Amino acid sequence: MSPIRIIIIAILVYIGYRLIVGGRRKKTASRPADRESGTLEQDDILEEDPVCKKLVPRQQAVQFEHNGTIHYFCSKKCCKIYRKNQGE
Ligand SMILES: [Zn+2]
Repeated sequence: MSPIRIIIIAILVYIGYRLIVGGRRKKTASRPADRESGTLEQDDILEEDPVCKKLVPRQQAVQFEHNGTIHYFCSKKCCKIYRKNQGE
């Protein structure tokens, strides 16, 4: 084996190693896109709108606290209706 071949093989092995290790790291931690989708999955809990019975993701829902419980609504309109109903 010529020394150049050994160097090339060493570089290829190094690159391969970096790809494997780097790929793993990206999946577990520092890739922003993955982190975003991770938090999205966590926060994307569906809540039932008590007015129209629609399921709304928590992040997008209109929140209203009533008697210590938070209610989630698909829109401000539903929230308004609910508050009106609670008042009556
Ligand atoms: Zn609604």
